[in-house]
Amino acid sequence: MRTIYFDHAATTAVAREVKEAMDPYFCENYGNASSLYELGYKSKEAINVAREKVAKVLNAKTNEIYFTSCGSESDNLAIKGVARANRHKGNHIITSKIEHPAVLNTCKQLEKEGFRVTYLNVDKNGFIDLEELKNSINRNTILVSIMFANNEVGTIQPIKQISNIAHKYNAIFHTDAVQAVGNVKIDVQEMGIDLLSMSAHKFYGPKGVGALFVRKNVNFVQIQNGGHQEHDKRAGTENVAGIVGLGKAIEIADRNMEENNKKLLQLRQYFLEQIKDKIPYIRINGDLKNRLPGNINISFMYVNGKDIVKMLANAGICTSSGSACSSGLPQPSHVLIAMGLSEDIAKSALRITLGKENTKEDIDYLIETLVKVVEYLRTER
Ligand code: PLP
Repeated sequence: MRTIYFDHAATTAVAREVKEAMDPYFCENYGNASSLYELGYKSKEAINVAREKVAKVLNAKTNEIYFTSCGSESDNLAIKGVARANRHKGNHIITSKIEHPAVLNTCKQLEKEGFRVTYLNVDKNGFIDLEELKNSINRNTILVSIMFANNEVGTIQPIKQISNIAHKYNAIFHTDAVQAVGNVKIDVQEMGIDLLSMSAHKFYGPKGVGALFVRKNVNFVQIQNGGHQEHDKRAGTENVAGIVGLGKAIEIADRNMEENNKKLLQLRQYFLEQIKDKIPYIRINGDLKNRLPGNINISFMYVNGKDIVKMLANAGICTSSGSACSSGLPQPSHVLIAMGLSEDIAKSALRITLGKENTKEDIDYLIETLVKVVEYLRTER
């Protein structure tokens, strides 16, 4: 049976070109980047080249890029690092209710350490309310952390307006851009971003490697103690092959972004037109304009999203009912609940995230299978 993959927000396949770029750093150029001989220099040089590629895509400086082990670690380092370093200035942090657990649980941890956290609401499309942000921020606010694009409904936040408000109060602005990097043009200067998290496996790079951009004058401390790697801010021997892969993947994603997005938007449009026609009692969740091009989130009333996922999987189709890391949990998505959906409608949601290899034929097969699955589950009730 053929596998058709529609879960690109969970992870992506490593691009061939990326794998080829990584290959020499396993068995040939295996040196520790801190070693003082040729093998070590080669690894150090490869890391520097990757750092330049990341910096170029974000319009940052190379010494503002720190490599980490994943998006979650980047979020932890950003939020804990800034909070702990700036405690003397204040103890208030602002985030939103629809963040990834890497941000939400980090904030919860900081609450235990005495920080006060405001979790902003979102509207029915998943946007934060700028007025609520203005009303919540004060001179005690040291950090505002709002995700660039949501992993479940794809909503893209008004990043520049958020950073403007944060900066008016001298707060530092972090954005979890794990879902946005590779899909949206990001210019950290123009958008006023102080810290930005990314993860290679979301843009056709390898798993287990991420990066964090930190603006030069932003004060933050390490959260992991050890050696002097990554300008003393992230101890641990560098994952050279992974970092090379991240660098290559971001370069390719940036180069092909316009073309890819055009294709994804066409496929999404086609899917939405077909599905509205063929299945009654559905609800498209999230904004259709300011949204990641590959993201589709639909509630199929009267059925459980997880049951749809399992039945689609039997037909070789990979989708999800929400984020990958909460797919085993019984409770409805915290994102959809924050957007005001009832528990039943939130539980009936299906997330379909398109990628560069998907075709119109894949969509046809998905629709054909969905029609059967939803009809079966509805009559079975
Ligand atoms: N932030 C967002 C918005 C995500 O979607 C994810 C992963 O799904 C993460 C953070 C965590 O990234 P990683 O899997 O690399 O730890």
